[in-house]
Amino acid sequence: MKLVPDYYCRSLENINFQTLKSHGIKCLLFDVDNTVTRWNEREVSEATVKWFDQLKEAGFKACLLSNNRSDTRVKVVAEKLGISYIYRAAKPSKGGYLRAVKLLNGKPGTIAMVGDQLFTDVWGAKRAGLFTILIDPICLKHEFFGTKFNRALERLVISKAKGRSHTF
Ligand SMILES: [Mg+2]
Repeated sequence: MKLVPDYYCRSLENINFQTLKSHGIKCLLFDVDNTVTRWNEREVSEATVKWFDQLKEAGFKACLLSNNRSDTRVKVVAEKLGISYIYRAAKPSKGGYLRAVKLLNGKPGTIAMVGDQLFTDVWGAKRAGLFTILIDPICLKHEFFGTKFNRALERLVISKAKGRSHTF
C-alpha cells in the first residue's frame, strides 16, 4: 500500500540506528519543514544538530530533500547540519528522489525517506522504491494553506497508516 510508511515514529530522536541497519539502510533523506525545522524557519534546534552528528558518526549518509523554492533557505539548514541538499524536489513526483539517489550514489532500497507528510514525503518515496519513515510534525502553527488542506485529508488515512506501520 503506497500510503503506509514502513515505520512511524514520534520524532527524529526516536529513530533507532540499529533498526535502520538491520533493514540495510545506508542513507537517509529528510524533508525540511516540520521534520528538521519548524515551518519556513532556518533555525535548527541544538538537539537536532546533535542527532545529525550521531547519525553521521554511526556511518549514515544524509541529504535534505525539500519542495522549498528557496535555495538559500534549504542550503542554510543543510550547512548547519553538515549534509547535502536538494531543493525544488517537487515531491511526490519521483524526480527529486531519483536525483537524491544519484547524489548519494546509493540504491533506492538502501535509502530511507524521513518526513512528516503522507501525501508528499511517503507517497513519493514509495513510488521511487525507497524505505519510508513517517514522523510527527514539529509544530503545526503558521503553515501554508495548501499544507493545512493536505493535512486535513491526511488525517482521514493517517491513523490507519500509523497503525499498520512498525514503530521504533
Ligand atoms: Mg514537512
